[in-house]
Amino acid sequence: MKKHFIVLLLLISGRRCAGGEADNTDSKKEKDDRDEISYTESGEAGKSPEGEEAASANPDGDKSPVSVVLDGIVESLTASGSEAPAESTPAPEESPEPEPTPEPLFGEGYVIAIDAGHCSKPETWLYEPVGPGATETKMKDTGGTAGRFTGVAEYELNLQLALKLQALLEERGYTVYMTRTENEVSLGNIDRATVANDANADAFIRIHANGSEDSSVHGAMTLCQTPYNPYVQKYEESKLLSVCVLEELCNMTGAYQRSIWETDTMAGINWSQVPCTLVEVGFMTNREEDEKMATEEYRSLIAEGLANGIDRYILERAALTGAE
Ligand SMILES: [Zn+2]
Repeated sequence: MKKHFIVLLLLISGRRCAGGEADNTDSKKEKDDRDEISYTESGEAGKSPEGEEAASANPDGDKSPVSVVLDGIVESLTASGSEAPAESTPAPEESPEPEPTPEPLFGEGYVIAIDAGHCSKPETWLYEPVGPGATETKMKDTGGTAGRFTGVAEYELNLQLALKLQALLEERGYTVYMTRTENEVSLGNIDRATVANDANADAFIRIHANGSEDSSVHGAMTLCQTPYNPYVQKYEESKLLSVCVLEELCNMTGAYQRSIWETDTMAGINWSQVPCTLVEVGFMTNREEDEKMATEEYRSLIAEGLANGIDRYILERAALTGAE
């Protein structure tokens, strides 16, 4: 098709030169032919939809007689042959789509430390200072409680919740440090707080489940330091973290929202140099909560509530401190 086209052009331009410019030499004529061909070819190759539109809106313009004739040929070819459009408007080279710049994830640049409370090898015979420089000591790990109805160990529930929370936070862009990722370890509260301190975490969340003599007691609560803690001064941030985590946890799970207990008796809180909350996600001594907390579905809701609480804490902390 293109060959035929060029032949047509040669014929047309030859006629024009022979008739209109009698004094042309052969070499001049050849030059004109080359000019016409290159003009037409570049016109063909560079034809854009806008160019076509402009040409039809201004049909006579300052076009040469040759291009007026050519337009007629192109139009008739386009009208008569289905292959014409493909030939007259060659597909532009496919340029690879530029990769869209991914939106930064919400948690990017923030560090969260997660502590799954207790472990399967608690060193109940060992004691440690309740805070830096304290003479008072507490058991390194009491071993925690267990489901009264399901028999699930608290350390196992805590670990499964911590792993789910880790996955969610990492999906949201956070950098996550875990105090443990298995049950068969022996960790005290100083060990756990040290993980959060070394990571310089924006938040340290300690996951536990509660127990009570009274099986009717149920619901979730959080714990943090008081404003007068002698070992650590992160009260405002820790309180905000405790509020956000508790409210979002209860929003997500429908659990009864108990209180925020401010206390300076917990070694894991006193040794933490970063904002810290301890969440008791529910009572393992209450049948309904114990049975729910044994299911994957409810555990996923808990983890999502905790993650939402951390998101909200990061947002609201900026207003609290005026910092990013
Ligand atoms: Zn516990």
